[in-house]
Amino acid sequence: MKNCDQFRERTEAYALGALDPEERVALEVHLASGCPECTKAVEEARWLISQLAYTAPEAAPSDMLKGRLLQTVRAEAQSQAKPHALPSKSAIPFWLLAGVAALVVFSIYSAWNTRRLHDEIREANNRAADLVQQRQKIEQELLLAKREATILMDPGSVNIALKGSDAQGPQLKAKWHSEWGVVVMGENIPMPSPHHVLQLWFIPKAPGKMPMPSMMVRPDANGRFVLLVSSPPESMDATKALAISEEPEGGSPWPTNPPRYSGGVS
Ligand SMILES: [Zn+2]
Repeated sequence: MKNCDQFRERTEAYALGALDPEERVALEVHLASGCPECTKAVEEARWLISQLAYTAPEAAPSDMLKGRLLQTVRAEAQSQAKPHALPSKSAIPFWLLAGVAALVVFSIYSAWNTRRLHDEIREANNRAADLVQQRQKIEQELLLAKREATILMDPGSVNIALKGSDAQGPQLKAKWHSEWGVVVMGENIPMPSPHHVLQLWFIPKAPGKMPMPSMMVRPDANGRFVLLVSSPPESMDATKALAISEEPEGGSPWPTNPPRYSGGVS
């Protein structure tokens, strides 16, 4: 029919009830004449509008996605409808390729990110373990420093002077607390020979009993040292004297040299 194009443009407006009364009447008369194309177009328009009404309340991203899908479907339908259309370079639409590419990139990133996170977690654990170790070391040092301070400050500690074998040389000082142990200190002490240390001995009161070996030390660059013996091998009551001799590195089970410093425990 000649007038069909004019009616076809109005089917959506008709389905929406948006036509002028004259236009509406004219279209209805045409439909009543039994035009199959226009009848079909009106049916499609009504269906489309019902679908739009149905999907309208949904969220915007979903609508956007639907829009894209519709575009793709229409493009596919058009290319199939045209007999001379070039065969599409790929049966897979571009958006799908782009989506797959994005997914692959994301998967690679994801795997890389997971490995990176694992590495970071392992590093963090190592750092934490180091910190715990450092703290334990500091706590231990602090504990020893506290013990030293207690021994030095407590009025119950017994003073012992260790005189040098060289009367002109420096003396050592010691303080013995019955509970906390012994601290021996020296200043301006000559350095022992290379590969040698100063070793402390507890000389027992009991006759014939061997000197008890104790801790070893080398003075610092200024000839200074502080030696803490937290558990002496003998009690104060059973000890006659403290002595220090120069011994090979690693110490000796009994003195191999005459004492360089010694002092009686009163
Ligand atoms: Zn028609």
